[in-house]
Amino acid sequence: MAEIIDGREIARKLDEKTGAEIKAMLDAGQRRPGLAVILVGEDPASQVYVSRKIKACERVGIESSEYRLPADTGQDELLALIGRLNDDANVHGILCQVPLPPQIDTRLVLLAIDPAKDVDGFHPMNAGLLFTGSEGLVACTPSGVIHLLKSVVPDPTGMDALVIGRSNIVGKPVAMLLLNEGCTVTIAHSKTRNLPEIARRSDIIVAASGIAEMVKGGWVKPGAVLLDVGITRVRGENGKDRLVGDIAFDEVQHAGAVTPVPGGVGPMTIACLLANTVRAAKALDRGKARAPAA
Ligand code: NDP
Repeated sequence: MAEIIDGREIARKLDEKTGAEIKAMLDAGQRRPGLAVILVGEDPASQVYVSRKIKACERVGIESSEYRLPADTGQDELLALIGRLNDDANVHGILCQVPLPPQIDTRLVLLAIDPAKDVDGFHPMNAGLLFTGSEGLVACTPSGVIHLLKSVVPDPTGMDALVIGRSNIVGKPVAMLLLNEGCTVTIAHSKTRNLPEIARRSDIIVAASGIAEMVKGGWVKPGAVLLDVGITRVRGENGKDRLVGDIAFDEVQHAGAVTPVPGGVGPMTIACLLANTVRAAKALDRGKARAPAA
């Protein structure tokens, strides 16, 4: 019987640690960490994500500020707001919810955020620091995946890891983190040949393709650790929607451990965002705002 990795519980523990760090900062006379969240337009999923992030801030004691801008906001206006937040000493983290409306160049927006306040870890500077094995701000979902992995395998050195997906926000950073942990990493994507065969020889599989239940039971080696990033809404037989991951959960009982969907990687993403905000606040308060690698 595969162990179910309880992402909610692990996220709760991380939040507790984050809350304790904030308390210690305040006791030491430091500023309360602040997170600015920008939402452009009315995408329903983005609205839900932003509300969850704001609530999570309240829970651990991060001061959040919310900037809801209309869908027709111009690029210059958004960049000007980011510029002001970059200069605001009460703001330690800036998050601009994606996707952005088509008139806005997402790459320019991500580049405009001060890397020291880039708590999403999407800025090329932070991606580059991760690539070179340094300590920047690491993207939240990938960071959460590694937390979950280490809850069952504290030292994954030497293990064969397969990452399915090569996006800049999930697949590539997860692969880099696994490499930094000493794993031998294969990155698979839509052009990969013999994926089931590669999967069958992997000790760790991180599935981030967004294809519902693509990883079948027959792809999984007994004892492997499975981390499911994918979230897809499917219509159940009873006519009700349900969320499923990229892994056929009911077929992988011979795995060593598996994350459920929901309740696995998802809760960790927000917990890592909060932890990143505290990390950024500490670095900025130490006066290392422009040198996150130090
Ligand atoms: P993208 O669509 O950006 O990337 C999907 C990746 O999967 C691509 O690299 C693509 O390859 C690859 N892929 C597609 N089809 C196949 C296939 N048949 N075999 C192997 N690889 C394939 O998605 P994201 O990385 O943004 O997200 C992935 C999933 O994770 C989604 O379900 C998303 O909802 C979820 N997600 C969950 C989060 C959470 O907090 N739990 C956070 C972020 C994302 P190619 O590059 O060749 O096209």
